[in-house]
Amino acid sequence: MRLSQFHLATVKEVPADAEIASHRLMLRAGMIRRLASGLYTWTPLGLRVLRKVEQVVREEMNRAGAIELLMPAVQPKELWEESGRWDKFGDQLLKIRDRKDQEFCFGPTHEEVITDFARNELKSYKQLPVNFYQIQTKFRDEIRPRFGVMRAREFLMKDAYSFHLSSESLADTYGAMYQAYSRIFNRLGLTFRAVQADTGAIGGNASHEFQVLADSGEDAIAFSDGSDYAANIEKAEALASSAARPAPHAELKRVDTPTQKTIAQVSAFLGVSPRQCIKTLLVRGRDGLVALCLRGDHEINEVKVSKLPELSGEPVLASEEEILAATNTRPGFIGPVGLPADIPVIVDRDAAALADFVCGGNADGTHYTGANWERDARVSRVEDIRQVVEGDRSPDGHGSLHIARGIEVGHIFQLGPKYAQALDATVLDDQGKSQVMMMGCYGIGVSRIVAAAIEQSHDEAGIIWPEAMAPWRVAVCIINPKHSPEVRDAAEALYRKLEQHGIETVLDDRGLRPGQMFADLELIGIPHRVVVSERGMAAGTLEYRNRGESDNRAITEDELFTLLA
Ligand code: ATP
Ligand code: MG
Repeated sequence: MRLSQFHLATVKEVPADAEIASHRLMLRAGMIRRLASGLYTWTPLGLRVLRKVEQVVREEMNRAGAIELLMPAVQPKELWEESGRWDKFGDQLLKIRDRKDQEFCFGPTHEEVITDFARNELKSYKQLPVNFYQIQTKFRDEIRPRFGVMRAREFLMKDAYSFHLSSESLADTYGAMYQAYSRIFNRLGLTFRAVQADTGAIGGNASHEFQVLADSGEDAIAFSDGSDYAANIEKAEALASSAARPAPHAELKRVDTPTQKTIAQVSAFLGVSPRQCIKTLLVRGRDGLVALCLRGDHEINEVKVSKLPELSGEPVLASEEEILAATNTRPGFIGPVGLPADIPVIVDRDAAALADFVCGGNADGTHYTGANWERDARVSRVEDIRQVVEGDRSPDGHGSLHIARGIEVGHIFQLGPKYAQALDATVLDDQGKSQVMMMGCYGIGVSRIVAAAIEQSHDEAGIIWPEAMAPWRVAVCIINPKHSPEVRDAAEALYRKLEQHGIETVLDDRGLRPGQMFADLELIGIPHRVVVSERGMAAGTLEYRNRGESDNRAITEDELFTLLA
């Protein structure tokens, strides 16, 4: 490609709401242009990168035996009513009406459509297992679209859906997808981890997320230094303390804490460690309020809490009025000692191992010291309800946990019979009996990968593409083309030769000054830059610069080809 014939449009200024590097750099490099909130045009430059990612994904899906198809983006309401998700999916679902006033949604995902396809196409166990995939535009009306294409409303996803007669067959394909995903992210040059993921409302079965490690990631992941255990922090189990709870020692005493409400204030005021305090949260349960007790230095894990039978989904903190009505006490002074008997007290494993602790006094302006479970405070149940922290023991018993930030670029899931059951997608087994199919689903955020790669690899000057994602591998620069036709010819010849060797090359023939030209090429992240100049031609060399290095090297053309081989 000749840059003079391309639409390269780098920009200097980016809007202040471009908070993270990838968002800023994609705008500056001119890879994307914002149309409206969460909606982006992929420019010719951006699209070259997006297509590279798509191609790697496609090749590896094909290699793993998946079969490509393409489903409509617009999906009829009736299908979503069959699965029960028309109402359940929530506000992320963009609902639309046609001229006949019929309702549709713009697909945020395709379980319904593929299951409908499968129930019509698949009749016999002999057609199974089968794995269909597509690479297609999704729409999700995200609450907070941000970070450019990282969390957009319209984005490109690869979604695959497999169908099986047995859960063993599902587990096999799941394993094959796990391998395929690992190959994809390795080929794309990303540093990633596959982590155990929460299975959400569907429950039960296996699920992994593929997380690209980056400080700007929205997810936290916990991984062990002594094994290959890794999990989304939502899912990571906090083991019970191995030491037995000490016997009560201190006497229960009510102390005045007139204005001290938070753990930090109370522990500083009383001169005790937050680890020795109990934090009590009152949340709305199915039948009235529920108390959750944690050690003062720990945080609640909302996903774990949402699974408690006393709750009906995500925890919602009780309002000040509700707390007052139930306990006659203001928030900040609530504790497990003397709570009304109709409030269940769910105690975290570590909190349950404390003796002689500090907790709210259930009377305004007071706390207790020397409190003890059973003796002073009721325990309805001990549960794992906290977030793991750096240094916790790994749940598999090997090593300790570290926390890192990640960007979720892929998610694989054993759905089981959920959708097939709802939509009555069955096949005949070898006995001629009708069986509901088992399903797996496997997503990759194709457009998000582009941003994630930049988060992982950039510097002040711009993007540093992994080779497999670069818009072009090599840039050949012509310095002073008007001044020296020989230089121009030599650069043209080198460009043609590189292309003939199948090396994707861009010829910077825009006639810019070197400084401007190099700044653009660094910003857009071309891995290899070669300058043809009069001086170099006289010496029989090219001036070579690798995007990841800070110095030029004089190399011969042969050396260049060896380096690119
Ligand atoms: P997240 O937790 O980031 O919202 P999700 O769990 O809703 O993602 P899935 O339903 O598993 O996402 O979708 C498959 C993949 O699509 C995700 O792993 C992610 O890479 C990508 N993806 C999801 N939502 C978006 C979005 N709003 N913008 C860009 N990519 C997205
Ligand atoms: Mg997910």
